[in-house]
Amino acid sequence: MIPAAFEYHAPKSLEEALRLLNRHGSEAKLLAGGHSLLPLMKLRLAAPRCVIDLGRIHALRYIREENGRIAIGALTTHTEVLESPLLRTKCPLLPQTAWEIGDVQVRNRGTIGGSLAHADPAADYPAAVLALDAEIVAASADGTRTLRAAEFFVDMLTTALLPGEILTEVRVPVLPPGTGTAYRKLHQPASGFAIVGAAARLTLGSGGKVERVAVGLTGVAPKAYRAAAVEKALTGKKASEKLLAEAARHAVPQDVELLSDLHASAEYRKAMAVVFTRRALEDALARAQSKKR
Ligand SMILES: Cc1cc2nc3c(=O)[nH]c(=O)nc-3n(C[C@H](O)[C@H](O)[C@H](O)COP(=O)(O)OP(=O)(O)OC[C@H]3O[C@@H](n4cnc5c(N)ncnc54)[C@H](O)[C@@H]3O)c2cc1C
Repeated sequence: MIPAAFEYHAPKSLEEALRLLNRHGSEAKLLAGGHSLLPLMKLRLAAPRCVIDLGRIHALRYIREENGRIAIGALTTHTEVLESPLLRTKCPLLPQTAWEIGDVQVRNRGTIGGSLAHADPAADYPAAVLALDAEIVAASADGTRTLRAAEFFVDMLTTALLPGEILTEVRVPVLPPGTGTAYRKLHQPASGFAIVGAAARLTLGSGGKVERVAVGLTGVAPKAYRAAAVEKALTGKKASEKLLAEAARHAVPQDVELLSDLHASAEYRKAMAVVFTRRALEDALARAQSKKR
């Protein structure tokens, strides 16, 4: 359980980190909270020649409102997301999701940037950032670019980040009045990761009709995805428990490749995706109706 030898760098600025990343190329790995990378290195499933520790770049650790959105620095920990009064008031889906991640130690060290960049198929945040239509900012020596969450997750443990890029920021919307959100998760009992996780965001319009809805699912497939057929089945219709239950049946599209492992078969995951989507939608609707979000 001892990692292979590596060179260690602890830059104090993003510019310095980008220079190091450019210099060491594919031999380098970025280190944030270390809660995914270090276990891989100890098991020798990853053996980078050089580790660039982002932990001292304090400028990447913030949560602030900017231009009508909430910007979250990549090094913000899960606990900081969970406890942020700004997010709790204006975009509670992220704190609701952070609460479900691991345990206190994991939440105190793990970062939102590290979790998204790692793209574990059983991680929680991917479902939430998809449901929020979040923007993800990547920086490189050539400048920055902004990706939509829907284009960020490419495959299992694979994102749209290019070599030489560092994820620097996640931007989520300030949710409008009449919106409720919820994250519901079936935990893998040993690790706490998601066998299935469903994030829902639902805005009610006049007459109790569903004006806007988004559902993100994790744990079900090699990468998290938006349940577009569920959203279509709800949009413009008067919200009711029966409607939500019917819509949730579309949680797993035909073309989704289902994960299957010793924790849950493909069939079980599919069944649970429907159940947890329905529960997330019910909670989101109740919050939208009570105006509590
Ligand atoms: C016991 C345990 C239980 C856990 N349970 C859960 C759970 O229930 N739900 C859940 O979602 N997660 C869970 N996790 C994972 C945890 O949330 C991790 O913290 C997270 O997945 C990775 O974040 P990190 O900051 O630790 O990243 P690291 O481990 O430091 O890095 C992960 C990967 O991302 C890359 N990376 C990191 N930061 C950046 C960046 N800014 N830009 C580009 N690349 C970057 C690294 O190079 C590495 O490849 C658990 C972990 C443990 C150890």
